[in-house]
Amino acid sequence: MTRLDQKEAMGLEGPNEIPSQWHREADVLIVGSGYSGLAAAIEAYDAGASVLILEKMPVHGGNSIISIGAYNCVDPERQKAQGIEDFIELHYEQTLSGGDYRADPEKVRFLVENALEGWKWLEEKGIELDGPILEVYGSLWPRAHLPKYKGKKRGAIVGGLYDRVKARRKDGTSVQKKLFPWLTKRRGGIGAAEKEVYGNSENNQN
Ligand SMILES: Cc1cc2nc3c(=O)[nH]c(=O)nc-3n(C[C@H](O)[C@H](O)[C@H](O)COP(=O)(O)OP(=O)(O)OC[C@H]3O[C@@H](n4cnc5c(N)ncnc54)[C@H](O)[C@@H]3O)c2cc1C
Repeated sequence: MTRLDQKEAMGLEGPNEIPSQWHREADVLIVGSGYSGLAAAIEAYDAGASVLILEKMPVHGGNSIISIGAYNCVDPERQKAQGIEDFIELHYEQTLSGGDYRADPEKVRFLVENALEGWKWLEEKGIELDGPILEVYGSLWPRAHLPKYKGKKRGAIVGGLYDRVKARRKDGTSVQKKLFPWLTKRRGGIGAAEKEVYGNSENNQN
């Protein structure tokens, strides 16, 4: 199929045009199915929105599914029980210094002040702490929470979040794969990509 054929199939007549028809609409469109995308999808569903997640790879999970998932946060209860002294300002300072002070201090502050709440949010989704709080390779303090989900360590957080997304989706089509890489680059591309994906939706569902 040539570029011109593709454009015609997409309902596009010229550059940067909005497609002439939409094949699917959602309140919230999420690009990517790693930690960020899956967490955003759960929150959007729980706020009552319809959700569509678009993933360019043939499998969901992105970098998140291959990461160890060690989750750093100050957790006074658990750390105290292990004799570890820790506090938010130390996490803040170490995060900034670990990144040669190139990170946005406001964002780092938000991160460290909300990290424990984020871990508890994961626990609500069925993700469990696997073993004691540790100082993982490359980190600066023993505050890492290693996750497990349904007894498995590998891909634990993605596994838990993905199960929650699947439980919330109403029409069985929330995660569509085979998204074209140019999706986010071109105006109108979203409608076009969806047309292609939904044309084969039975093959692309999880
Ligand atoms: C080997 C490894 C180990 C790690 N270990 C840890 C750890 O122990 N602790 C820790 O805190 N961090 C760790 N990290 C870092 C952590 O994994 C990442 O910071 C995190 O996964 C980023 O999540 P994300 O959702 O932002 O991105 P990703 O998980 O990468 O998700 C982005 C998704 O978007 C998709 N996408 C991109 N562009 C498009 C497009 N145009 N259209 C559709 N889809 C698109 C990608 O295919 C991907 O699925 C590790 C990373 C690696 C690689």
